Amino acid sequence: MPSDIEIARAATLKPISQVAERLGIPDDALHNYGKHIAKIDHAYIKALESKPEGKLILVTAISPTPAGEGKTTTTVGLGDALNRIGKKTVMCLREPSLGPCFGMKGGAAGGGKSQVVPMEQINLHFTGDFHAITAAHSLAAALIDNHIYWANELNIDVRRIFWRRVVDMNDRALRAINQSLGGVANGFPREDGFDITVASEVMAVFCLARDLDDLEERLGRIVIAETRDRKLVTLKDVKATGAMTVLLKDALQPNLVQTLEGNPALIHGGPFANIAHGCNSVIATRAGLKLGDYVVTEAGFGADLGAEKFLDIKCRQAGLKPSAVVIVATVRALKMHGGVNKKDLGSENIEALERGFANLARHVSNVRGFGLPVVVGVNHFHADTDAEHDRLKALCREKLDVEAITCKHWAEGGAGAEALAQAVVKLSEGEPGAITYTYEIETKLTDKIKTIATKLYGAADIQIESKAATKLVAFEKEGYGHLPVCMAKTQYSFSTDPALMGAPSGHIIGVRDVRLSAGAGFVVVICGEIMTMPGLPRVPASDTIRLDASGQIEGLF
Ligand code: ADP
Ligand code: MG
Repeated sequence: MPSDIEIARAATLKPISQVAERLGIPDDALHNYGKHIAKIDHAYIKALESKPEGKLILVTAISPTPAGEGKTTTTVGLGDALNRIGKKTVMCLREPSLGPCFGMKGGAAGGGKSQVVPMEQINLHFTGDFHAITAAHSLAAALIDNHIYWANELNIDVRRIFWRRVVDMNDRALRAINQSLGGVANGFPREDGFDITVASEVMAVFCLARDLDDLEERLGRIVIAETRDRKLVTLKDVKATGAMTVLLKDALQPNLVQTLEGNPALIHGGPFANIAHGCNSVIATRAGLKLGDYVVTEAGFGADLGAEKFLDIKCRQAGLKPSAVVIVATVRALKMHGGVNKKDLGSENIEALERGFANLARHVSNVRGFGLPVVVGVNHFHADTDAEHDRLKALCREKLDVEAITCKHWAEGGAGAEALAQAVVKLSEGEPGAITYTYEIETKLTDKIKTIATKLYGAADIQIESKAATKLVAFEKEGYGHLPVCMAKTQYSFSTDPALMGAPSGHIIGVRDVRLSAGAGFVVVICGEIMTMPGLPRVPASDTIRLDASGQIEGLF
C-alpha cells in the first residue's frame, strides 16, 4: 500500500465549485482559496437557518493506544460509504494544528483511501484560520499589557493575569518566560508563558459560537485577570472584543474540501481535547446539517473524553441531537488494552483481545447511558486475523448486544465501510431522542466532576486539592456554578494514570487545578499533568522535510 501522501497526490480532485454544487451551494457563496478549497460565506449560512436538518452521526473511539484507532479515517470512510449508498452526507472534521507536524511524522486528514484532500494544505496553513486565532489572541495579550502600561485604570494585578500568549508551534522554551524586561519603556516586568494556539480560549470560543455576534459576546466574557481587590477582569473590560472579532471574521466561515472520492467535507476549528472540548465548530456542524441528509463528525480522544464533551458541552450548548454513535475499535488496540506490547501486535492473540475487550465494553455502556444507539466500527488492519475479528464480533453480540462491523475503508475507500453505513442508517431511523446528559447543569461543580468520574470513569471517588477546591467555591460564588465541566485528564486510561489500560475501576480521580473558561462556557478540571505547549522530539520530523526539485513537499507524511 502506498503512503498516505502518495495516495493523496495521485488523486484527481474536482474543482471545489462542483463539490459545493452537490450540496446546492451557489458559486457566489464561495470564497475560493485556490482550486480545491473554499470558505462558505456567512450570509449564505445565515440564509440556511429555516431549512430542515439532516441526521448527526458521531464517530468516537475506545481509549487511544500507540497502536492507533483511526477515528478520522473512519469518519471519512463512513462518510464516503453513506454517499455511496445514496445518502447525501457531509463530513465535519477538525482542522489540524501546524506545530505538531514538525515533531512526530503524521497528518490529521485521515489515512489510506479514506482521506480529505488537498492534505498538505489542510495540515499546514490551510485557509489561515489558526493564524487568525493566533493574531486575535495576541492582540488581546498586547492590549492587556498596554492597559497596564498606560496607568492601569482597571487596577489589574500583574501577579494575577491568566491570559497567556500563544503560537502555533511546539516550542517548550516558551512555556514559562519573563517579559517586559529592559527598562521603563517596555512596561512592567512579569512572568508569562506561551501555549500552543489550539489551547487558546479563543479557539474554544470560535468553535462554540453560533455566529459573529455570539463570537463577540463570548470573547467579551473571557476572564483574563484579577484586580488588586480580587475582582475578575474580562476581555470586554480591556475593550478587546471588537477588534478581535474583526480579525476572526473571515476565519469563522467554514472551509469546504473534498474526500478522495469527491464528497464534501467541512473542516473548521480544532480545539484541544483536554483543556477544551475537542470538536469542530458548531457553525460548520450546523451548516452541514442544513446542507446534507447526514453529517458524520468526530470527537477527540476516546469516548470518555471526546464523546462526553461532545454531548455534555457542545450538543447541550448548541441544541444538537445525534441520531447514532459509532465507536471505533481495532483488534490491535484492544490487544494492547489486554496487555500486549506494540512490537508483538503482529501475531494473533485471542486471549489478549478478550481481556482488552473490557475497554470497549465500558465505552459502549457509557455511550448508551446518554440514550444513544451505538454500533462498533472495527477498523481493519492488515495483520488482523479473521479469528480475531470473529471473536470480537461475537463478544460484542453476546456480552453487549451491540453490532460490531469490520470496516476496510483504509484499504478500499468508502466501499469498505458500506456495511457500517447501512447499520448507521438503520440505527438513525426516526426522530432522535433527547440526550440523557451525564449530569444536570444546575448541580454544583464538584458534583458534576464526581458524577463524571464515578459514572463514566468507574472511579470510586474524586479528590480535589485544596487550591482547586478554593477556586471552585469562588467560581460558584461568582455565578459560574451553572457551567458544564471540561475534564482534562490523560486520554490513555479511564484513570489518571496513562499506564492503567483496559477498564480500571475503584480508583480515585485527583483534581489538581481548575480554570474558568467563561467565554467558551465551561470550567476546566485538570487531573494530573496536562501539557498546553508541546515540545519537539530529539529527532523532529522537520529534519527531513524539504521541497524537492519539482517543488513538492518531501518528508512531511
Ligand atoms: P485518529 O483520528 O484516531 O487519531 P487517524 O484516523 O488520524 O486516527 O489515523 C491515524 C493513522 O493511522 C493515520 O496515519 C492512518 O493512515 C493510520 N490508519 C488508520 N486506519 C488504518 C488501517 N486500517 N490500517 C493502517 N493504517 C491505518
Ligand atoms: Mg483524528
